[in-house]
Amino acid sequence: MNEFSLIDTYFKNISPKSSDILVGIGDDAACLSVPPDMDLLVSTDTLVEGVHFLKEWDPFDIAYRSLAVNVSDIVAMGAKPKWVSLALTLPLVEQSWLQRFSQGLKTVLAEYQVALIGGDVTKGSLVITLSILGLSKKGGVVTRSQAKPGDGIFVTNELGGAAFAVASLKQTEINSTAYKACLKKLLQPKPRIDFISILQQFASAAIDISDGLEADLYHILECSGVGAYIELEKIPVNKAVLNLCQERALDFALTGGDDYELCFTVPEGKIDDMLSRVRENDLRCYQIGTISKEKGLRAKAENGQIIHLQGKGYAHF
Ligand code: ADP
Ligand code: MG
Repeated sequence: MNEFSLIDTYFKNISPKSSDILVGIGDDAACLSVPPDMDLLVSTDTLVEGVHFLKEWDPFDIAYRSLAVNVSDIVAMGAKPKWVSLALTLPLVEQSWLQRFSQGLKTVLAEYQVALIGGDVTKGSLVITLSILGLSKKGGVVTRSQAKPGDGIFVTNELGGAAFAVASLKQTEINSTAYKACLKKLLQPKPRIDFISILQQFASAAIDISDGLEADLYHILECSGVGAYIELEKIPVNKAVLNLCQERALDFALTGGDDYELCFTVPEGKIDDMLSRVRENDLRCYQIGTISKEKGLRAKAENGQIIHLQGKGYAHF
């Protein structure tokens, strides 16, 4: 199978149709129609075997996770993911692997109405690079840099499930339903597209939680030039992790990452309206603290003691 038949078979016809793709897969470049009242967002992520995923994972999940984490970056800006380009480096052409990989991609493309508009295929160690494009109303993106003292700090769901799964990957004896639910969060994260319009309307700053709540909230604080006060007992901790591993559950939720939930801030005067909208949409979010003028991240522990957190989380270097 040569490079061109590989692209035709596994990548060319797996996207939802979209009239804004003027030229798609098959030419030297894709050409996209951007509405005049929208801003264009771009984000790239590289996933490396052994670092971001393991060789023995189902290629369906490898594709799922790779694309989902990219979608999440656009969502965290309060924008709508639209188009994605895939640079795939493969050690060899294994049709059954590519078939499953393609099915995983197709599933996420359909779920989030994103189109694959091009890419590249090369030979080498297994590396997946995705560049995703999204649209947001002009001047409407939500960044990490506009949190202000007094803003409430929210997270969109329970945390720690994916991190617990990472820590347990090598323990094959864990086989409970609860563990499988955590593993699913790791393998098939669900980017929070259901929060896009809420972020647009109410959030002063937002980030997706990829490296851990502590580290990612810290990014907001640094970019915004503010600090925060949070209460550890208000952090929603994944119930399955609480059952399976209570002593480390809070640590997984605080520093673990990989859940791809959102952390966002809302000006005090908008909090009630935001919460009503969240309820109306049958969603949930949890306030864990407040942005402060005083820099740094202070946390009230369960025993009432105030501790200073340093922004710990996953870091490559
Ligand atoms: P070129 O030689 O011009 O770089 P390629 O042979 O790399 O073109 O790719 C041919 C076409 O297939 C291009 O339109 C490219 O965007 C698309 N393509 C290549 N690899 C992928 C992929 N993994 N997924 C989707 N489209 C791809
Ligand atoms: Mg090429």
